[in-house]
Amino acid sequence: MIVVLKKSASQSEIDHIIEKIEALGLTVHLSKGVERTIIGVIGDEAILRNQPLDILPGVEKVMPILKPYKLVSREFKPDNSVIDINGVKIGNNKIVVIAGPCSVESKESLIEIANAVKKAGARCLRGGAFKPRTSPYSFQGLGVEGLEYLNEARKETGLKVVTELMDPRDTEAVVKYADVIQIGARNIQNFKLLMEVGKQKKPVLLKRGLSTTIKELLMSAEYIMSQGNYNVIFCERGIRTFENSTRNTLDLSAIPVIKELSHLPVVVDPSHAVGRWKLVASMSKAAIAAGADGLLLEVHNNPEGALCDGGQSLLPAKFASLMDELRLIARAIGREI
Ligand code: PEP
Ligand code: MN
Repeated sequence: MIVVLKKSASQSEIDHIIEKIEALGLTVHLSKGVERTIIGVIGDEAILRNQPLDILPGVEKVMPILKPYKLVSREFKPDNSVIDINGVKIGNNKIVVIAGPCSVESKESLIEIANAVKKAGARCLRGGAFKPRTSPYSFQGLGVEGLEYLNEARKETGLKVVTELMDPRDTEAVVKYADVIQIGARNIQNFKLLMEVGKQKKPVLLKRGLSTTIKELLMSAEYIMSQGNYNVIFCERGIRTFENSTRNTLDLSAIPVIKELSHLPVVVDPSHAVGRWKLVASMSKAAIAAGADGLLLEVHNNPEGALCDGGQSLLPAKFASLMDELRLIARAIGREI
């Protein structure tokens, strides 16, 4: 349920409406937009049946949110959400580039890659310590040791750390070291895990699953937000289609579709979408042109020797020249990187 306020509503009227709603045991989410102020009501709305809110001074109308996702929806919050990653803001005019290796392999290589992507203009470092691999015999990540290396890389470069959580039992360790908790494509409907990160305060990068519809993606974000964590960032990373010339098919139209339906930021991961480094630059540029708020890119100093996803990883020099091109695209659409 949302309460749309009159343009003329005074602060004391707003305070009074909030007091009334809270007195009923419901929670409010105040969204002060440029055009309108809206109060989102969270909780059992049946309580409101005998307590009409539209009679209160300052209220223009009271509307139910008909969509199954509520906190995620643009009706609930008409203005874009800007999420604070310990000082790096995502969802505003400045595009955020998150770059780094697929998985953390050693302290030395991680720090070398981190320094290179930082120099080229990335503001966050990616790197998996817990890796969801298709084969149980593939490298599974360094675990807590990998998290410690990410911590070292952050200390050295100031980059914010984005790393995946696969198992609720590792929540404490990942939350201790991550600036953003990544939920991987394969866990998009692991509802216990979603609720677990929903209880945390740190931002969550929620990756679309291989066969997840946009509605299902939004519902997964609702799981996280329903637990109190409103810091959700979507990530389009390609979906599985009949086309097999790329690893997945990058669904670029997901960007404007999600933005129409939700106020949350959208990041694009062209690396996992295409699976080949040669195609990463064009899809990165297209993603920025289509309105992405950020990019998640795999960069490795020795792709041939990488323990995971070397074929889709950019060398640091290629990444740096891509960043120069991306700056031009961003400028052309009135944004910056
Ligand atoms: C990743 O980004 O490290 C990853 C495993 O990607 P995805 O979950 O999208 O496959
Ligand atoms: Mn990878």
